[in-house]
Amino acid sequence: MDADRLTKALIDLIAKAVIDLPDDVEESIRKARQHESNKRALVMLDSILENIKVARADNAPLCQDTGVLVFYVKHGDNINRSLLEESIIEAVRRATDEIPLRANIVDPLSRVNTDDNTGYGIPRIYYEYDGGLDDVEVTVLPKGAGSENTTSIGMLNPGEGVDGLIKYVVDSVKCAGGKPCPPTIVGVGVGGTAETALYLAKKSLLRDVGSHHPVKQYRELESRLYGKINELGVGVMGVGGDTTCLGVHVEYADCHTASLPVAVNLQCWAARKATTRI
Ligand code: SF4
Repeated sequence: MDADRLTKALIDLIAKAVIDLPDDVEESIRKARQHESNKRALVMLDSILENIKVARADNAPLCQDTGVLVFYVKHGDNINRSLLEESIIEAVRRATDEIPLRANIVDPLSRVNTDDNTGYGIPRIYYEYDGGLDDVEVTVLPKGAGSENTTSIGMLNPGEGVDGLIKYVVDSVKCAGGKPCPPTIVGVGVGGTAETALYLAKKSLLRDVGSHHPVKQYRELESRLYGKINELGVGVMGVGGDTTCLGVHVEYADCHTASLPVAVNLQCWAARKATTRI
């Protein structure tokens, strides 16, 4: 694919992500509505569902915060990385103008805006090698600041065990309250080193909402966390009720015997993501 077509395909991908909420997320919000007993939460859920519909009808972003664009690239041997990176950066610039996206990216100290959603170290692109792939699979995850700002990492004492880990995650969600625009998807990274745990917590948000980990002990951990988080009563946009999270996704890596890292990365109800194959 030449550079122009690649850039256009990537702009279309970004547009799909910020405008068209994936079916799995919408379905989980509809299910939550069926089980919600709090009247204020029901009003909020109806507003969210209407918001999703209007965004599609008007071809407009779901939320004014179109986030920081994080890219995940899965590839085999057939990849031109420099062409892909240049095209992603150009696509982000043009998408900011054409869709449009809110210009969110600033220098962290001077706060001067780059005006095109690119900058030093941004957009972040993660690569994962899969020798069986002929195509390149590109996924974009627009991450709003409301949810990202509630991210936390705990380097627990391994002696705190599973109960300590659950307490850490539940306390993090409680402390976040209504700030991440609940109902959230709770991404949890367990193990690895500190930055691996944070990476896994965010990457888990790409899974279908409510999908379960293939390994039994992590699947059971997801289920325990899901129950305890929804007992918190934070509720939709923090108004109270039965629905604080739509799903809990745990990913893990083995770790040092003296460590138990746990990272929590929340995703708001506008859990945007889109994938294309190039
Ligand atoms: S947290 Fe999500 S829904 Fe809330 S303002 Fe940010 S992007 Fe929008």
